[in-house]
Parts: sequence; structure tokens; C-alpha cells
Amino acid sequence: MGFIKGLKCRECGREYAVEPIYVCEFCFGPLEVAYDYPKIKKALTRKKIEKREKNLWRYRELLPVDGNPQVGLTSGFTPLIKADNLAGELGIKELYVKDDTVAHPTLSFKDRVVSVALTKAKEFGFDTVACASTGNLAHSVSALGAKAGFNRFIFIPASLEASKIAASLVYGPNLVAVDGNYDDVNRLCSEIANKYNWAFVNINIRPFYAEGSKTHGFEIVEQLGWRAPDNVVVPCASGSLLTKIWKSFKEFREIGIIKKLDTKVFAAQAKGCNPIATAIKNDTDIIVPVKPDTVAKSLAIGNPADGYYAYKCVKDTGGYGEDVTDEEIIDGMKLLAKTEGIFAETAGGVTVAATKKLIESGHIDRNETTVICITGNGLKTQEALHGHMGEPHHINPNLEAFEKVLKKIK
Ligand SMILES: *Cc1c(COP(=O)(O)O)cnc(C)c1O
Ligand SMILES: [Zn+2]
Repeated sequence: MGFIKGLKCRECGREYAVEPIYVCEFCFGPLEVAYDYPKIKKALTRKKIEKREKNLWRYRELLPVDGNPQVGLTSGFTPLIKADNLAGELGIKELYVKDDTVAHPTLSFKDRVVSVALTKAKEFGFDTVACASTGNLAHSVSALGAKAGFNRFIFIPASLEASKIAASLVYGPNLVAVDGNYDDVNRLCSEIANKYNWAFVNINIRPFYAEGSKTHGFEIVEQLGWRAPDNVVVPCASGSLLTKIWKSFKEFREIGIIKKLDTKVFAAQAKGCNPIATAIKNDTDIIVPVKPDTVAKSLAIGNPADGYYAYKCVKDTGGYGEDVTDEEIIDGMKLLAKTEGIFAETAGGVTVAATKKLIESGHIDRNETTVICITGNGLKTQEALHGHMGEPHHINPNLEAFEKVLKKIK
């Protein structure tokens, strides 16, 4: 195929060959995949995409692999749902939910990035894959790595939700729970990655892995009828997904798939871990690391690798950032479930609650088209809801008992 030109430093522009590397030797800037857009423009059309199978590989010319896709052949192409009930509740005209709560196989958008990372790991000839994870990445590397026949080393903070730990263990990886937060885990993993010849999906093959997030954005455009939304609200951990959604829109314009692009990109974070939202609000491109303390554990990255680029993307597009309390997060989860029948994890609560505030403050125009990115399934973080919902009506097994309850409900 050959649509990749190589790797390129995001800071100084130095070019590198396609290898499992991620930082520039000269300026320590992050490396990014560079594509031959004129060639892709000739090869890829709306019609061609529409004829392909409904998975994330339908955009394969814009993904960093050389041969055929090898992992994640049933991942991607999740529903884009017109959320009229939630729109009514929030007082806005046109709202859509991009619903990765039903991502295959592990119910979060991480199946996208891992599909691409593991296909690339195969191309590079690795037999062992690894990751530092806040939870969802652990599931995805464990599951997709099992199917693809890799040895797997998964590193997580020991404080993760019990249900998230179980949902990794079932796939039989080597699971290492580290006493420390995600940033400690990540630091340890960088050391391990330097010593062992493993494909750490979010470290040494991060430039390839991160590109998988673009498919969330490509799908939004295709499912909106080949147009980019006016506003998109994205939950941020490292900030990578946000920057890649914007990149996906720009690439579609670059190759002529869409003509018009003036989307504003919005960042959503928890107040207990808000380095990106804070930088945006303070209008400074210096990201000050924080010690995370929030129920939204999948977003709990205190020192975000792509924080600066996420900040820049929000500012350049005329968007904004918002952060929400744990209570608002729970309310956001319940609101989405009650209005649209979608049970999202805490990260979804962050996105819904932040969107509400952005609408109320006028940063999101009530008459424009808005897409919110719902990135993971609520069954993964049920603990967060304990004590925040009603109790079931408890009765004896007879009609009289039930009708007593019914009277109370009426
Ligand atoms: C990883 C993750 C994100 C955000 O990831 P980035 O590091 O910002 O790309 C958002 N939502 C969920 C559920 C996640 O697991
Ligand atoms: Zn450089």
C-alpha cells in the first residue's frame, strides 16, 4: 500500500523512518506519523469507504499500517445517536452521542487504538505487547492481545476499581498492580520499555497507537452525512483522543472528503484531575501537573502527555475547556441513562456534565450541531454509582404487596 511517508517530530519537523520509536533524538519532541496525502486523495473516496465493511479499517489508507489489518477486524463503527431527549433536557437544538459504550470487544474506545497498535506490533515482529493503563486500555490490550496471540504485560495503578481489575484478569494477561497513581505506573513503564524488547502500545509504539483514535472522528463525519459538527466535546486523559479527533476532521478536508471545516473542539475533565481544562481557562499553554483525586479514574492522568497539544487544538478552533465535580459526574451518568438509555462510565458523566456547563455559559451555541464523545461503558465502573441511586421496591411475592407499591408510585 505505502501511504506512510515516515515519522516526523511534532516540534522540529525532523523526519525518521517507520520504527518503534516515539521521541525526537534532537529536541525530545513527540514523533507523529506523516502520510502522503496527495496519494491518499487519489486512492480514497466516500464511495469507496461506504462499500467497505463496517469496522474501523474502512479508513485504512489514513491509518499507519503497511499490509492488511490483522487485529480488530470487528472493532469500530459504533452508533452515532441523535440524542433528542438529552438535547431537550440541555436546551439545545441538535445533539448527537457518538456511542463507544458498545465498542467491540471491550466496550471502550480503547479498542480502536489497540487494534491499530497491535496490527503495527505484528508488522514490527514483536511477540510481547504491554501497556500502562488507567483501566480501559488494560482490557483492550488483554482481550485483543489474547485473540492475536501475543504475550501480554499489563501495568495498572493498584487502586483501580475491582470490576476493572476483574475485566482484565479474565483474559489471562500478566497483570501487574503498582502501588502508585497512573503517572507513577507510566514512569515505571518507560524504564521497562527501555530495557525489554516489548511493544508498549502507549510508549514506544505510541505514534502508531494514537492514530487509531482518528477513527472515532472519521466515523462522526461519515455518520453525520459527510459533514463535521459545529462543536465536539471530548473527555481528556492524556489529551490524545481530542487532538486525534481534530486531526481526523482536518485529514478528511485535506483529501477532499469534506469541503467545509469550522468545528470548535471542547475539552471535558473532572475537577479532581483537570490540568488541561485549567490551562484552557487560564489561557496559558503551560500544563501544570496535578495529583488526581476523582471517581473518573479512566481520565485520571495528572501529567498528560498530549496536554499542550490538546490545549492548542482547543484554542486554535475557538473551543473551550470545562471541569466538573464528582457529584456532577454521577448526575451526568444518570442523565444520559435516563434520557437516552445509554449507560456510560464515569468518563461519559464527565462529558455530559461538562457539555451542560458549556451550554449554560454560552460557549456552545444552542442552535448549532454538537457531538459528544461517550467513550466507555458504565458496567465497568458500577462502584461509582453505589449510594447514588434509589433502591428497588422490595416486596413479598403476592399481588397485594405489589399493589401497595403501585399506589405509592401513583
Ligand atoms: C483513555 C480514555 C479516554 C481519553 O484518553 P486520552 O488519553 O485523552 O486519549 C477517554 N475516555 C475513556 C473511557 C478512556 O478510557
Ligand atoms: Zn524534534
